[in-house]
Amino acid sequence: MDHSRSAKGEPRARSAKAPQEDAPVDVAVLGAGVVGLCTAYALARRGLRVALVERAGEPGRGTSFANGAQLSFAYTDALAQPSLWRKLPGMLAGLDPAFRVRPSLDPEFLRWGLAFLRNCTAARFSRQTWAALELGVESQVALADLRARHPFAFNHARPGKMHLFRDGAALARAEEVSHMKREAGFEQHVVGAAQAREIEPALAEAGDFVGALWTPEEEVGDPYLFCRGLLEVLTREYGVAAQFNFAAGAPLVSADGVAIPARGSPRTIRARRMVVCLGIDAPDYLSSLGIRAAIQPMKGYSFTAPLGAHAPHVSLTDTARKIVFCRLGETMRIAGLAELGVHDAAVDPARLRALVEGARAGLPQAARYDEAGQGWAGLRPMRPDSVPEVRRAGERIFLNIGHGMLGWTFAAGCGERVAGQVLAATRETQ
Ligand SMILES: Cc1cc2nc3c(=O)[nH]c(=O)nc-3n(C[C@H](O)[C@H](O)[C@H](O)COP(=O)(O)OP(=O)(O)OC[C@H]3O[C@@H](n4cnc5c(N)ncnc54)[C@H](O)[C@@H]3O)c2cc1C
Repeated sequence: MDHSRSAKGEPRARSAKAPQEDAPVDVAVLGAGVVGLCTAYALARRGLRVALVERAGEPGRGTSFANGAQLSFAYTDALAQPSLWRKLPGMLAGLDPAFRVRPSLDPEFLRWGLAFLRNCTAARFSRQTWAALELGVESQVALADLRARHPFAFNHARPGKMHLFRDGAALARAEEVSHMKREAGFEQHVVGAAQAREIEPALAEAGDFVGALWTPEEEVGDPYLFCRGLLEVLTREYGVAAQFNFAAGAPLVSADGVAIPARGSPRTIRARRMVVCLGIDAPDYLSSLGIRAAIQPMKGYSFTAPLGAHAPHVSLTDTARKIVFCRLGETMRIAGLAELGVHDAAVDPARLRALVEGARAGLPQAARYDEAGQGWAGLRPMRPDSVPEVRRAGERIFLNIGHGMLGWTFAAGCGERVAGQVLAATRETQ
């Protein structure tokens, strides 16, 4: 481990010299989505020697690839909430076009479902939203720090975010929760429809809505560009050894460390410790180690189209349609739909069409819909309490998993948290 410090007392960026393949590094990070990359960064900044392995040929090709792009630090409301009981029959019957549940008799699904329903109380909603809000605060600070040190481009902007409500009762519920956000230090308040249109003139075409929740400091950024940019920083300035096309197999854990073989290849990574950042693949991977991860997939879709004649600048969530509109440079990213219990990430053309038409109905000139690309689908790694699992799971194994609907938002803060835990464990053994 290199603890060398600069004159300012900060860890020095490492030289670009990669560690030898068979020499053990301090930490192996598994998975190069937004979570794995932020984890590798936070570890490397603490002076640890890091290897990063990824099954795909490049970073950010999993759920992180084309998500909604919103950095919603202040909107961390747990999905499990009392109002869900009313909506559940419609979801199970497939009557809600945006939110569906594919029930299954798989014991993991049933266990997850029961845990989720147990969380649909006012007290638990409040506790879990607070826990996530803390992560939101930490993540905003951590990302700002990362950007200040390494100003690479990923279409980052701070346009503020507005949640549109077409139903007064839902707006009143959101207003009740917004006091938590203010207590946490965020500016967030309800505005009427007229004021919302003043802030974002593109809402003139949004049809009737009763009001909006306005959070002026919320940010956006392209997660895929972020992954590529951060990987370059990690390899160039911190000497992180990244290996792609490396599908990690079950690790061999010994008193000295871990040896992680690549499936179908003679390559092996040796490390003192490992952090699992495998998103939706974490439960399968961890089961080989006897560790249970309560994560179920929730499939969602997105498409990216050229800006329309009235493209919003503010990042928007149409809560009734459950669709987000996010301007990324010269394009509009539009995302939505939630299908709990669906395990394949293939694009179903009918569901993609439903998203495109829902967006067109909500904001007809936000994007040039007829020029939308092929569309994309991804699996959100959902936990029943909407709070990511960031913890030590064994002598040498750490988890940074289960980021659900907010993995892009939470990636920087969760990276810092798990890196702090790894560093503490490293010091215990010195
Ligand atoms: C439609 C949609 C919209 C969303 N919108 C937002 C949003 O606006 N804001 C927000 O904050 N979040 C959003 N999310 C959620 C966010 O995208 C996820 O929470 C986040 O991407 C999870 O990141 P991750 O790094 O854990 O997972 P991933 O990006 O999936 O990374 C895990 C990586 O592990 C790799 N891997 C798997 N198995 C192995 C193995 N055996 N060996 C090596 N590598 C392996 C995978 O290839 C993958 O690259 C959205 C998600 C969806 C689907």
